[in-house]
Amino acid sequence: MPSLRHRRLSIAMLALFGALAGAASGYWLGHVTLLRTANAGLSSYASDLIGHSDEYAVELGNIRKAFNPSPYPFCSRQEITLMQTLTFRSLQVKEIGRTHEGKFYCSAFVGRLDVPKPLPPLTMTTTGGTHVYSDSRLTFAPTATGTILEGGDVDVVLSPNAFDHWNRPHVRYMVVVVNGKTGQMAYLAGSRLDVDLPWILAQKETRKGGDLYRSRCSSRYDVCIVTEESASEILQGNRALLLEYCGMGGAAGFGLGLALGQFYLRRIGLAQQFRRALRRGTLELVYQPILELPSRACAGAEALTRWSDEEGNAISPEIFVRMAEDRGLIGQLTSFVVQRSIEEVGWILRKNPELTLSINIAASDLEGEALFALLDRYVRKAGIRPRQIALELTERSTADLDVVRRAVLRLHHEGYQIHIDDFGTGFSSLAYLHELAVDAIKVDRTFTRTIGTDAVTASILPQILSLAESLQLEVIVEGVETEAQAEYLIATGKRMQAQGWCFGKPVTASQLPKYQEQRRGSPDASHANDEVAASRSE
Ligand code: C2E
Ligand code: MG
Ligand code: MG
Repeated sequence: MPSLRHRRLSIAMLALFGALAGAASGYWLGHVTLLRTANAGLSSYASDLIGHSDEYAVELGNIRKAFNPSPYPFCSRQEITLMQTLTFRSLQVKEIGRTHEGKFYCSAFVGRLDVPKPLPPLTMTTTGGTHVYSDSRLTFAPTATGTILEGGDVDVVLSPNAFDHWNRPHVRYMVVVVNGKTGQMAYLAGSRLDVDLPWILAQKETRKGGDLYRSRCSSRYDVCIVTEESASEILQGNRALLLEYCGMGGAAGFGLGLALGQFYLRRIGLAQQFRRALRRGTLELVYQPILELPSRACAGAEALTRWSDEEGNAISPEIFVRMAEDRGLIGQLTSFVVQRSIEEVGWILRKNPELTLSINIAASDLEGEALFALLDRYVRKAGIRPRQIALELTERSTADLDVVRRAVLRLHHEGYQIHIDDFGTGFSSLAYLHELAVDAIKVDRTFTRTIGTDAVTASILPQILSLAESLQLEVIVEGVETEAQAEYLIATGKRMQAQGWCFGKPVTASQLPKYQEQRRGSPDASHANDEVAASRSE
């Protein structure tokens, strides 16, 4: 087993590695989440701006309607006053004027020109026939430029700040007018984004050069919006959140690394401890009584290994038996159980020749000579009959069937009993087991549990009992936990044996005679320890 310092260091390294990997994953998760949220925000921002631009388009339409037809003569004092009133009321229009055949005649600000002025060079025309003049020098403010929209002999100068009310930090937008038929485009408001406009509008959602873009076009007017946000700005602006993600990921990774490290080292440590326990013989055996039905007389007991690790934690046989199988230690375990069990209860068997000691073996035990030699030696030494030893081979064993068949026949020939453990959980057929010279099957406790229930498998137990009877195979029913289950088995009228908590939990070798005595009157229990001690020292 690794030293405590070495173990602690390994766990700490794993935890550290887990923390680093967790922090990196946390950063990545935070990064992805932030960009996803920003993308969703950009999309909804673009949709909102389209909504506002539609409202403005309605307002522009209303201004145009006010002069088509005009209630006053063209560029009259009253018409100019109406233009001044509408300009004053509007949020997005800085100036309203009247035009005719490419010339500008009068406006709210400038009044009536003595000599009409030609309109600036045309930038584009919308599908609705509105002329757009981008970046045009303004008559009422000669040092400024702005966007002029003209249609129906009315022109308006758009406010460059019309959308300022909707500005959001870190996000830029551009409002453009687009002619879907000619493909012409012109800037209307917002930031002048340096982008390939047709491409961005076709993409709708894209990321280019570290910037995220979303675009939306109005379904009613020739207006489109592009929104843009820099990914690095998003991440920088949310550094605290990213740190939180890193921290959470790191903490989770640290915990996972710690747990994994402990689990892994425990598994390695456990195998080494088990090896040591085998070498030192510090494993313990308990014996679970097996009873005859219907008499309930004790027919024998099954030896079951118990082991606690070096910290005193009881380890389940399901774990250490599998571990022993995986690490090639099962032969040593079987050898330990054969020796120790015969040492501990051999004297009881000698005095009660009708009793059987059941020992669990693994299929791999049947491959060599070791088991044969060991049995021969200890059975002979204890002065018991081979028939009093039942070797339990689990039905799920994966082994070369030929090897198993030969070994089983040989053991049978030498007088040992062969019992098939956990019957019903594997694939063997009863007929095949009969051919194999098996003496008994131990019906798995999953079938015992179905007694008295509506489970679909409830009918299997009676079928197994009948078939085993017709093939003259002995039956031992495992896991009998309740009196009702015992009564059910007795009521079948068939001869069988049973084992389970209803009849008794596993007991130590020294308690076994007392148990047996209660059942049918047998040697003095107090005698047990002396006999065990004597047989060990032989
Ligand atoms: P198994 O050979 O089928 O042994 C019976 C298991 O069922 C034992 O569990 C026993 O304690 C348990 N049991 C007995 N009566 C009842 C009951 O009424 N209800 C329930 N729920 N359980 C009951 P255990 O001791 O935990 O052993 C588990 C398995 O580990 C054994 O199943 C056996 O396959 C294996 N095992 C135990 N000791 C050894 C050993 O020394 N060598 C080998 N190769 N396998 C062993
Ligand atoms: Mg067993
Ligand atoms: Mg079993």
